[in-house]
Amino acid sequence: MSIIINQQSCISCGKCVAICPGNILGKSDTGKAYVKYPKDCWGCTSCLKECKTGAIKYYLGADIGGRGGYLYTKREKEQLYWFICKPDGEHVCITVDGTQANRY
Ligand code: SF4
Ligand code: SF4
Repeated sequence: MSIIINQQSCISCGKCVAICPGNILGKSDTGKAYVKYPKDCWGCTSCLKECKTGAIKYYLGADIGGRGGYLYTKREKEQLYWFICKPDGEHVCITVDGTQANRY
């Protein structure tokens, strides 16, 4: 599994569920998003780019050279911030144009 969803931070907007190309995410009875089929997630990060609250974390496993760090995103107006949290606690932020994030 590549992602985990923080239920406290999820505001039940459903955007991650709608954008996932593999129909891997679902909504629980409370309306919060959860990972229905964790083994099938291939880590495309589309759901992260849609989440305005930073509720979704993408783990950077050793298989992709991440050694246990993780990524999450925050949106502010049209800016999308990617936060890379390294295993040693260091944080790096990359800012991109959020209006182009999930256009494919
Ligand atoms: S996009 Fe974020 S806030 Fe919206 S349902 Fe998904 S996890 Fe919750
Ligand atoms: S990373 Fe991609 S495949 Fe995995 S749950 Fe998110 S949108 Fe779906």
